[in-house]
Amino acid sequence: MFDKVLIANRGEIALRVVRACREMGIASVAVHSTADADAMHVRMADEAICIGPPPSGSSYLSFPAILSACEVTGAQAIHPGYGFLSENAAFVQAVEDHGLTFVGPRAEHIRIMGDKITAKETMRRLGVPCVPGSEGGVPTFEDAKRVAAEIGYPVIIKATAGGGGRGMKVAETEQALEAAFRTARSESKAAFGNDEVYIEKYLSTPRHIEIQVFGDGKGKAVHLGERDCSLQRRHQKVLEEAPGPAITQELRDRIGKVCADAVAEIGYAGAGTIEFLFENDEFYFIEMNTRLQVEHPVTEAIFGVDLVREQLRVASGLPMSFAQEDLHIRGHAIEVRINAEKLPGFSPSPGRITQYHAPGGLGVRMDSALYDGYRIPPYYDSLIAKLIVHGGDRAEALARLHRALGELIVDGVDTTVPLFHALLQDPQIQAGDYTIHWLEDWLKTAT
Ligand code: ADP
Repeated sequence: MFDKVLIANRGEIALRVVRACREMGIASVAVHSTADADAMHVRMADEAICIGPPPSGSSYLSFPAILSACEVTGAQAIHPGYGFLSENAAFVQAVEDHGLTFVGPRAEHIRIMGDKITAKETMRRLGVPCVPGSEGGVPTFEDAKRVAAEIGYPVIIKATAGGGGRGMKVAETEQALEAAFRTARSESKAAFGNDEVYIEKYLSTPRHIEIQVFGDGKGKAVHLGERDCSLQRRHQKVLEEAPGPAITQELRDRIGKVCADAVAEIGYAGAGTIEFLFENDEFYFIEMNTRLQVEHPVTEAIFGVDLVREQLRVASGLPMSFAQEDLHIRGHAIEVRINAEKLPGFSPSPGRITQYHAPGGLGVRMDSALYDGYRIPPYYDSLIAKLIVHGGDRAEALARLHRALGELIVDGVDTTVPLFHALLQDPQIQAGDYTIHWLEDWLKTAT
């Protein structure tokens, strides 16, 4: 096992990794921008190093700054968290070139899954069900028309280099296709510097179901069931739960095995998530995330595992500490993402926390880097806390969430907490009856 690990991230996820390191007897090194000098991850790590000014490009995304920090502190491995450099194949290469270990998959796997077309081709070859659509990129409008006619309307045009829901356009009819095709291309060019797009059948009322996988990098892999992340606003997840209210044990076993076999086949190392749209009991692959997800704690709760510990084990060359037959679901878990944002517009609300009290008690986990007097800087993500509850069943988890939200105090900035109080009152949320469009529709009528 490593003696010292550097965490190339900030906020709650940096703290999450510090905690795993501490429990494993590994020394942790925090890095921070000048804006984060007083951050909790800096206080809690064994060592901390300033790596640059506030803009991420000059600090949390800077290869030389982070690699130098490793050199100076003698850290042997880098945990990237999520976001920032976590899915940057060039960074993984640079880490390896410096004789250090990247806690995550190989550069090659990040590269394949980072391009939506090669990701889909690879998954199809590995037997993973995909959304019907074009084989590869669609260069001209004539091609687009032909593909759309084959798969049938409505269709969605998506950027090959896409991310964060940008560069996607839905066309209901052939008349609407031309405008959608051209807009998707120009948006994609502007956002990603690449105007290649592809076409998929547009699913009208799917759920977003993602399968957690974990590989040892040597051909063994397991799955840890699914998370239902359908509650989204502008393609950003807001609340996640596991197991998925619509997923039976039979469906889980079937898709879970397909996913575990696929990542085993390619020798995938560490944590990964295979995302699907789920409609009429069928799964359709959309993308794979080659990192730890924000919402990983709901999976940890129901399986009783520590995914960060497991990542560190596998990265250091140790075997996984569980096999598929050891993994059983116990109860139900829900996570809500608490953002420093002002409702109803969800505009960022950085500033000083005048009072903070975290909820606690049975089945409550608060992953947050907040503290009394902390000043939330305006430069980064607005996620300030993840409240995760675990109960014997879904009803108990919902009651526990309601109770825990009632205990939480975050004063000084606006947060999305009132949204969750309101959502918990809704009969469809209580019943687990929602699709990827539900939240946006609900927000329209609620405001
Ligand atoms: P990104 O990487 O930009 O997040 P994804 O491919 O993961 O793009 O898609 C993001 C979201 O867009 C999905 O969660 C879903 O809400 C919607 N979406 C993507 N593909 C389709 C599709 N074929 N049919 C319906 N909705 C889709």
